[in-house]
Amino acid sequence: MVSKLDVLYEPDAVAIGLMLYEAKRCPRCGLRLPCNVDYYGPNRARRTGMQSECRRCCSQRSVERFLAKRAL
Ligand SMILES: [Zn+2]
Repeated sequence: MVSKLDVLYEPDAVAIGLMLYEAKRCPRCGLRLPCNVDYYGPNRARRTGMQSECRRCCSQRSVERFLAKRAL
């Protein structure tokens, strides 16, 4: 099954997004992605109001955290 995130990360979708928004590089996966809420989730704790890592990395991180907890 193709999720909404997979569609957003298609090179064509990213290219279109980069025409409309500034690029922001995710430090975790290194991808240049459009700086908008589709790619970077909100984070009120940060000065920018956005997560520094992209949504896919953030969801991957929470999966890893979940698995790590279970392994204990
Ligand atoms: Zn990322």
